[in-house]
Amino acid sequence: MNVLEKANAIKNGELTALENVNNYIKVIDEKNPSINAFIEINKENAINKAKEIDEKISNGEEVGQLAGIVFGIKANINVEDYTISAASKTLEDYIGSYDATVIKRIKAEDGIIIGINNMDEFAAGSSTETSYYGVCNNPAAPGRITGGSSGGGAASIAAGMCDIALGSDTGGSIRNPSSHCGVEGFKPTYGLVSRQGLLDLSMSLDQIGPISGDVTGLTLALDTIAGYDPEECTTLNNELPNFTEIAVNTKGMELPLKGMKIAKVKEFTEVTDDKINEVVDKAIDKLVSLGAELVELNFDYIDICLPTYYLINYVEFFSATRKYDGREYASRIEETCGEEVLRRIEIGSYISQQEYSGKFYKKALQARSLIRNQINEMLEDVDLIVGPTVPKLPHKIGTKLEPMEMYAYDVLTVIANLAGIPAASIKAGEVEGIPVGLQLQAKPEDDEKIIQAISAFEL
Ligand code: GLN
Repeated sequence: MNVLEKANAIKNGELTALENVNNYIKVIDEKNPSINAFIEINKENAINKAKEIDEKISNGEEVGQLAGIVFGIKANINVEDYTISAASKTLEDYIGSYDATVIKRIKAEDGIIIGINNMDEFAAGSSTETSYYGVCNNPAAPGRITGGSSGGGAASIAAGMCDIALGSDTGGSIRNPSSHCGVEGFKPTYGLVSRQGLLDLSMSLDQIGPISGDVTGLTLALDTIAGYDPEECTTLNNELPNFTEIAVNTKGMELPLKGMKIAKVKEFTEVTDDKINEVVDKAIDKLVSLGAELVELNFDYIDICLPTYYLINYVEFFSATRKYDGREYASRIEETCGEEVLRRIEIGSYISQQEYSGKFYKKALQARSLIRNQINEMLEDVDLIVGPTVPKLPHKIGTKLEPMEMYAYDVLTVIANLAGIPAASIKAGEVEGIPVGLQLQAKPEDDEKIIQAISAFEL
């Protein structure tokens, strides 16, 4: 049963919201101690909300499109009465005093929040190993990292602990763990979803998006959280398609991707391990068998993507962390944070001080334009760019990586954030039992084309 079918079953009384919640509580009780996907769980709250929804349904009252659907929320999105720590000691005592816009919308549609997902500290990582609450274990490849930074969200979906997890993606944090855990994750066009209530990592790159086990989980979430927010100035004020309808209609078609042009990029293949490329190529063949036309394109700037991304990230993160000065709701970040967060603050501070000469940040912004312009040019000719999500398999927990080795995981995902385009990762297949993701990227506001391809791919 996919998430939409489940939502319908709950509305029709074939399944109760309480049964759905109780099933998940059972799995969480059993698996969370070893997986560590949730760092806070509020069973009572979820049970009460489920009972309320079931009562409304049995009374014939109208309920929202997410009625009874169970969510995990990344620990950097404000949810009232939960600890919103961003998995950092710095914020271990910070209790969310309000709901982020996305949370308000989920609640308004009767979605049920069961808990808060583990993540890399302040979303600065690709492995969930930097969490103050301990590493998260990959349910699809036990003993390996989940990827990150939304590792808890992806793991909670892979382990069957909730229907939808909400993550954030600054340079791949939704797509990378989705790839490593064998689930589906979607980073919307920059501005499609409100960031109000998200703790910034790098505000010109951050987007909130869903992780789920099937496309209807992604689309039900998107239909709920996407759209203009008067409280957030970067949100787009455009009419939106109904993503769920698109996903459902695609499933009824014979050659659902007929007329769609997709591109592989030579340089993306070159930076990726051979075994991963083999699996990804098979997935691309499947898209072709569904009607898509495949071409090959070149991208000139693969070598500058990581330096550009990390430089912007350091500077914006440094500025975002100035409010954690120990006076209000947090302890002084430099005194309580972990190694990677401190590295970013120190380098970000240094770059900001040097910036009067325009040496670094200004150059990074120029490089960002080059990347964005070329990606957009490529997407003039094709509907989707398809390829691997992460160039390497997830490492075994406990393996020591240098910062540059860790950053290298992100080379294929940071591009979408630098360009502001939508991108998703779905499971392409496996290498020696370890999941491998297929990444799909489209033009700004062509999010629906990605949804169409994912829906077709699932057939
Ligand atoms: N791994 C990247 C980083 O460390 C991306 C993080 C993210 O998308 N939040 O910055």
